[in-house]
Amino acid sequence: MGEACHYDVLQNEKFGRYLVANKDLESAELIFTDKPFAVGPKPDTPPLCLSCYCPVDNTLCSKCGWPVCGAECEAAPAHAPECTVFAAAKVRYQSPSDWTAASPQLDCITPLRLLLAKEQDPDTWKRDLEPMEAHTEARRQRPTWAADQVNVVDFLIDHCKLGARFDKELVQRVCGILEVNSVEIPSRGGYSVRAIYPRLAIAAHSCVPNIVHTILHNDCQVQVRAAVPIKSGEPLHLCYTYALSPTLVRREYLMESKFFNCECPRCADPTELGTHLSTLKCQKCDNGIIISSNPLDNEATWKCTEKKCEFKTSSAAMRKMLAVVQAEVDQLDALEGAQAIEVREATLNKYKSVFHPRHAILLGVKQALAQLYGRVEGYSLDELPDLVLERKAEFCRLVLSALDVIMPGESRMRGMMLYELHAPIMFLARSEYSAGLIDQDKLKERLQEPIKLLEVSAKILTREDPQSPEGITGQIALQSMEQLKASLECL
Ligand SMILES: [Zn+2]
Ligand SMILES: [Zn+2]
Ligand SMILES: [Zn+2]
Ligand SMILES: [Zn+2]
Repeated sequence: MGEACHYDVLQNEKFGRYLVANKDLESAELIFTDKPFAVGPKPDTPPLCLSCYCPVDNTLCSKCGWPVCGAECEAAPAHAPECTVFAAAKVRYQSPSDWTAASPQLDCITPLRLLLAKEQDPDTWKRDLEPMEAHTEARRQRPTWAADQVNVVDFLIDHCKLGARFDKELVQRVCGILEVNSVEIPSRGGYSVRAIYPRLAIAAHSCVPNIVHTILHNDCQVQVRAAVPIKSGEPLHLCYTYALSPTLVRREYLMESKFFNCECPRCADPTELGTHLSTLKCQKCDNGIIISSNPLDNEATWKCTEKKCEFKTSSAAMRKMLAVVQAEVDQLDALEGAQAIEVREATLNKYKSVFHPRHAILLGVKQALAQLYGRVEGYSLDELPDLVLERKAEFCRLVLSALDVIMPGESRMRGMMLYELHAPIMFLARSEYSAGLIDQDKLKERLQEPIKLLEVSAKILTREDPQSPEGITGQIALQSMEQLKASLECL
């Protein structure tokens, strides 16, 4: 693969530095690859191996006394930077009483790695990292500032005796640079970690992104591709937040963690570009829906759209309700087996009169169900009655139609939903054939759709790291497509 570099860096008042395409890009075209300047634990992670990021329980490095999972990881290059510093300063990790609780002692690791990378590679620091936003004034007002001051700044400068190499102001700035510009990435060991990419970090945000990125597990290299065709000169937009969340939640997250008010077209539209991801049903009238009177103001009143209906509610009430229901939905992740399906269906039923059927919270539950039907004991694909197969297909299509608008193009989520959708369509066609409802020619015709779905799914997902869940699904999609084609030839 050649070194793709199809972007320019520009600067303006609104975005600061940002990327634009420097030529017309096709969908899925590689725009650039990027290597992280530093990788390490996120704040508030439980004790983990400082090399492979797997959970650890009382195993410490024999040289520095900080968590690693064994001899191989102790000697790995990933752990070398802080190992030398901690061993020289004789600062050991204080074993916690609970090895599964968040460990603030580890908050210093990624900032320290960034500082040491700055010493190693001053040119990249000066060119790419130094100009990054750190939002120092805004961060100073937050509780995390004081926590970083103790756990990172004072710890590194006073305890680890790094005062001759770095000053305290720089260490706080590094904490800010990481908070504002790093991305969360999966790791081999299990815990997700954070990484700072010099070029990816410059891409501006939009809640309707036009680029996708894939992270490779072995060296954390990121590949950035066009999600849709992009014209030369158009800005490249990444989505910094979870795309399947309602506007109020996204905008508050972006303000809290990235320090800006998103004013993208999706945020500006009370119906979220017609997807209704934020819309509620009115309880006071028959056909009304409740939307924000001004989605770019997080404090605006929410009102019913029916002319005769007077119903309105405050943003505070809306925020609280969303938090309560989201917390209830998050609990569902702990369920296993048939319960994972049955309790989710009960939850959909409970809230169907409250939310629009496409509301982000319900859509998240439906997306989970789309993946669970066919995978759970008692609900395997060949056991599912046609009605339930149709329900699985309906949920897949609902998610895909939202993605068409908010995440157009070849995203991981689309690849996964296309894979899920192929199965019910295939089983429904076979069930109609065995019931004598369609003849063999019609069956062949109907099976073209799942073949097409598998083909697109495999095309998207085989770009992912082969060890990631998406990469594995991509391989399965490819094999299933070959099998299905072969079975058609035997008909
Ligand atoms: Zn390890
Ligand atoms: Zn060590
Ligand atoms: Zn937005
Ligand atoms: Zn109403």
